[in-house]
Amino acid sequence: MTSARPAGRSVERTRRRGGIAMPGPEVLRPGDAGYDAARRVWNAMVDRRPALIVRCRTTSDVAAAVARARTEGLEIGVRCGGHGVVGHAVPEGGLMIDLTPMGDIRVDPQRQRATAQGGALLGALDAATAPYGLATTAGNVSHTGVGGLTLGGGMGWLAREHGLACDNLLSCEVVTASGDVVRASAEENDELFWGLRGGGGNFGVVTRFEFRLHRTDPRALSVERDFPVAGAMAPAARWRDLSEGAPRQATYTASVGGGVATLGFVWTGDPEQGRDHARSLEALGEPVARRDVESSYLDLQRRDDDVQGHTQRRYWKGHYVRELSDAAIAALLAHDPSVSAGLQAYGGAIADVADEATAFSHRSAAFEYVVATRWSDPDEDDVRMATARQSAEALAPYSSGAYVNALSDDGVAGVHRAYPPAKLARLSRLKDAVDPDNVFHLNHNIAPSRAATAR
Ligand SMILES: Cc1cc2nc3c(=O)[nH]c(=O)nc-3n(C[C@H](O)[C@H](O)[C@H](O)COP(=O)(O)OP(=O)(O)OC[C@H]3O[C@@H](n4cnc5c(N)ncnc54)[C@H](O)[C@@H]3O)c2cc1C
Repeated sequence: MTSARPAGRSVERTRRRGGIAMPGPEVLRPGDAGYDAARRVWNAMVDRRPALIVRCRTTSDVAAAVARARTEGLEIGVRCGGHGVVGHAVPEGGLMIDLTPMGDIRVDPQRQRATAQGGALLGALDAATAPYGLATTAGNVSHTGVGGLTLGGGMGWLAREHGLACDNLLSCEVVTASGDVVRASAEENDELFWGLRGGGGNFGVVTRFEFRLHRTDPRALSVERDFPVAGAMAPAARWRDLSEGAPRQATYTASVGGGVATLGFVWTGDPEQGRDHARSLEALGEPVARRDVESSYLDLQRRDDDVQGHTQRRYWKGHYVRELSDAAIAALLAHDPSVSAGLQAYGGAIADVADEATAFSHRSAAFEYVVATRWSDPDEDDVRMATARQSAEALAPYSSGAYVNALSDDGVAGVHRAYPPAKLARLSRLKDAVDPDNVFHLNHNIAPSRAATAR
């Protein structure tokens, strides 16, 4: 550390690379300019104050930050897009490894590959690959981080055609708990590679992701039909039936909130084909509103950016649903109108991959359910969260598990819902091998099998 801290910030001691002086990472402490901006994440309820925020620029910065945290006994939080709803990325009194300066994307159009640094956002990945007519599965809001999304699975509009983000991962560069930098792929450290595809941030800090890209039609269509919630049972049941035989280009979506049920799908590719498929929705009956919105794939990926913007207080709960029974639909339609709940169809290429092939689990889910609520007055915290919990509780009898990236304050029970017992046991053995001291525990934690350190 420099002893004098210019302009309220500090820079780790200068390193030399190839004879050229390189600045170390910027290090922020409480009171420094930029400290408050750096600790702010998507959910405004997260208001934690790390002792140190290390804004890493290189893999060696990350390795040094891990070593420093261990030496100084500081808890580690790893921040990419900052979208984890419980804000594990921001450790109270700990060391936050801020990967946001590591946001570069490189595209190799010939080999149809892209590499993303560990702090990259989805919007940057999509924007870099689109000029080549290429894309890989990414989530539906462009300011989400590649890191957290991919390590948990990564559901997006291309997933039914090309698999989850983690299914398109070819290799990772990882800083482990011991500070080593290793490569994980099908050929090298294959068990670690298995765990990184769905096991979240438990096994190290990923400083580079390598993805397979696909030729992708740059067009898309979003089809939505609104029904009053009170009369939506029959339309929703028909929508569910239609989803079962839908082409892979169609991802069926439903949402309820504010007394309205919206049923439809998102189509990737030729909008005319999407319109043809939309004719099947006439079977739902006459809606009170209909929207067929044609857009570029890139605009589709940014469609919800504003409504999902920062500064609001947030809470969510999720389930996987293997069979969406009439009773489950009825429970969804009975939600309090103050919450917003949605279903997004799985199947297709997601289910083509064997469940044991990756740490990501529950590939037989028909739908992912998430109930979410947002507000701005802290006095409403308890009632808002209680209402969302009650809604999720109403769907619990139909749940077949949970998506790790849709967990919130579920603790150990949530981790058990995200991974079946055999999977969890294998993940714990991997944790024994790569992080026996549970250095990376600020996440949906997979505890080492020999330690009672699940948090
Ligand atoms: C608005 C919004 C939209 C979303 N849409 C989708 C969607 O369409 N599909 C979907 O599947 N999910 C979606 N999610 C869920 C999202 O995948 C998770 O919230 C995910 O954890 C966010 O990752 P992040 O990097 O943005 O968040 P962070 O809070 O930065 O990271 C979350 C955790 O991931 C780990 N982590 C992140 N980066 C790294 C890294 N490089 N190395 C090691 N560990 C790391 C850390 O444990 C960290 O605490 C959405 C979330 C939000 C808020």
